[in-house]
Order: sequence, then C-alpha cells, then structure tokens
Amino acid sequence: MKPAPFKYHAPSSVEEALHLLAELENPKILAGGQSLMPMMNFRFMMPSNIIDLNQIEELSGIEQRDQTIHIGAMTRQHDIHTSSLVKYAAPIICDAYDLVSHRQIRNRGTLGGSLCHLDPSSEQPCFISALDGTIDVIGPNGRRSIGIEDWTSMYMTPAMLDTELLLGTHFKPWPVGHGWAFLEYSRRHGDYAIVGVAVLVTVNENQEITKLAISICGISFAPCRLKVAESTLIGMRADQHAIDVAAQCIDSIEDIMEDAHNSSEYRRHLAKVYTQRAIELAFQRANNTHHGQNTH
Ligand SMILES: Cc1cc2nc3c(=O)[nH]c(=O)nc-3n(C[C@H](O)[C@H](O)[C@H](O)COP(=O)(O)OP(=O)(O)OC[C@H]3O[C@@H](n4cnc5c(N)ncnc54)[C@H](O)[C@@H]3O)c2cc1C
Repeated sequence: MKPAPFKYHAPSSVEEALHLLAELENPKILAGGQSLMPMMNFRFMMPSNIIDLNQIEELSGIEQRDQTIHIGAMTRQHDIHTSSLVKYAAPIICDAYDLVSHRQIRNRGTLGGSLCHLDPSSEQPCFISALDGTIDVIGPNGRRSIGIEDWTSMYMTPAMLDTELLLGTHFKPWPVGHGWAFLEYSRRHGDYAIVGVAVLVTVNENQEITKLAISICGISFAPCRLKVAESTLIGMRADQHAIDVAAQCIDSIEDIMEDAHNSSEYRRHLAKVYTQRAIELAFQRANNTHHGQNTH
C-alpha cells in the first residue's frame, strides 16, 4: 500500500513548526518515520499535511545541565544507545536499546517519536518511567512539563494537545554505584517486548535497599510502576526474599491487558519471571559496587 496523498512541510525552527501545526488542516508531525510511515502506508493514518521536524537542529542532542540529563525529541535512538554520557549516567537506557528493534530502525527512530507513539510494549517509555523522567512540550501557550506518570492519557495517546509538540525529556541520574537491569521477553530479537522490566536500585554497605524503581511495559497502556513493591522493599536486604516479595506484588495488579496471542495471565506470568530476573541482576550490579567492582 502507498500512503494517501499529503502535503509535505519542512520547518527550520520550533516556532515555524508550531505555526504550521496550528494553521494546517489535519496535520501530523514526522520524526524518524519508523512508526508513522508504516501506519500511513496501511492507511491507519491519513494526514493531509506532514510537518517534518528533521531540519530543526535545536530538537536534537544529549546534554547534562546541572544534575539533569536532557535528551532532545529528535535525538536518534542510535545516538542515545552509543552515548558515553548516557552509558555513565543511566546505563539502563543502553541495556534497553540493545533490545529495541534493529540498528537500521534505531538510526532513524527518535526517543521523542517513541514517547509520542506510546506503544504499550515499548521499552522507551518504560525506562523513562523507571527514571521518573519528565516530558517537555511546547504549544501556542508556551512550554509545559509533564511527569511520565501523567504522560499516557489513553491507549497510544500522550497527554499532549494537537497543537503541541514534544521538545524532549529530562531526568536525574541515579547515584554512581546504583544497580540496574532491563530485561524482556519478545518473540524474536528486536521485536517489541511482550513484557519488559526496568529496575534501578541502590543498596547501603549492609546490603539493605535504600532506593528502588521497578517499571513494567506490556501489561497496561502506560508503563506500570510497582509502587507497593518499591516501598515494601526499602530497608530489606537485597536478597532472594526481597525478590520473592516484589514478585508477589504482581499478583495484585488488576486489568493486565491481553490480545489474541498473549492472555493476561501469560503476561502476568512473564511479568513475575522477568521482574525476579531483573531485580536479581540489578542487586548483583549494586552489590558489586560495594565490593569494589563498580560496573559503571
Ligand atoms: C520493524 C520495527 C520494529 C520496531 N521495534 C521496536 C521495539 O522493539 N521497541 C520500540 O520501542 N520501538 C520499536 N519500533 C518503533 C521505533 O522505535 C520507532 O522509531 C518509534 O516508535 C517512533 O519513532 P520515530 O522517530 O520513528 O517517530 P515517527 O514514526 O516519525 O512518529 C511516531 C508518532 O509520534 C509523533 N511524533 C513524533 N515526534 C513528535 C514530536 N516531537 N512532537 C509531537 N509528536 C511527535 C508522530 O506524529 C507520530 O504520531 C520498531 C519499529 C519497526 C518499524
């Protein structure tokens, strides 16, 4: 299939893009095109006007400002995956990108595009969720920031107005020496996760958990933070008992999504198994730090 006819626009600034977005009929933003173009080819989407952000340089880049990492909306997934700053500050992102699609897609695909496409099985909103990231958007009324926990308004729909565009995302890195893991089950390497789990943890010199984040993709429309497990495990020793307690919390999650291929009970089972594995790996990495083997 070929896409339905559309007009193409290539603004060179955010202001110009916003103007086009407000003025044009039935517009759609183009980032890497790796999700939008297939949807247009299948005619799931038939925009009349395409606003291509690829000429807007200010939307790309990774930088540290004060204690915060900022990633521009148009930053290619490959550039994030291979960034030494990201590898140092948030190695969970690099581990997750090992599992995201294929090199050719990551070369074009952007983090911003993934956050707007909001596939429930995507690893990218999930690691931003574990990092408590914030999404920065701009529209006719100026800029505003939206916490990742409020970013999903409904299935594959971000909490952003039609007249707004995503500028980028930012997050505070976890302390040097934290443990991390991103593990997933997918049918083939490079496929979206059926279920994926992101874990970040810090432990003290007594191997007690001092900070923990667990986020799961593939079980609901938005990344699911295991808040009960996170608070229950604080102060516990980073051992098998803590892992078991966290896994038990998955039993109480309601309304796990399902489709023709994967029932909700199967997704729940995968969430439990991969949460256990991811916490175990994150514990090992955090514990190594206290034995002088910092894996950063
Ligand atoms: C074969 C294949 C396998 C894949 N596997 C995975 C995978 O395993 N994991 C995964 O996470 N992803 C996967 N993807 C998707 C990939 O990560 C896409 O790159 C991503 O979902 C969309 O990013 P993009 O830059 O290509 O955005 P586009 O396709 O250009 O846009 C996606 C949507 O976001 C909107 N948009 C984009 N940027 C902005 C902005 N700045 N402001 C407002 N709206 C915006 C667009 O209008 C569109 O609706 C796969 C894709 C393919 C083709």
